Amino acid sequence: MKCPVCQDVMVVLELAEVEIDHCLTCGGIWLDSGELELLLDSETDRTAVLQSFRPAGPLTEKARQCPICLKGMEKVFCAGIRGPVRLDRCPAQHGIWFDPEELQDVLAAGSAGLNSRVLDLLKDMFGNNQPKEERP
Ligand SMILES: [Zn+2]
Ligand SMILES: [Zn+2]
Repeated sequence: MKCPVCQDVMVVLELAEVEIDHCLTCGGIWLDSGELELLLDSETDRTAVLQSFRPAGPLTEKARQCPICLKGMEKVFCAGIRGPVRLDRCPAQHGIWFDPEELQDVLAAGSAGLNSRVLDLLKDMFGNNQPKEERP
């Protein structure tokens, strides 16, 4: 499968027994439909995250292509720990694209800090990324 951002071939990683596609070039993560739910431990978390999705309005940039059907993806907002995160989602529900750190943001918000299992794994995989701050 090719990265929707840089078109490089992605590698398959296993995260908490879920196979995720990861682009080594840009650091993004593709989750097939249903995989985000698998990464959330409780029904409450799943409901909270899925209910936080809402359309992000008209595209201001060229749509990224779904790596499965190659159709242009739509922008959606999802609750993140530092405010809404703008994700790319396939309109045919093949899956969701997360830019670097967006998955951590969404999982941290969805788990209310109680479930750190997947977040710990992510930190092991990608490092403990802190929010980027503008340097003076
Ligand atoms: Zn990439
Ligand atoms: Zn698709």
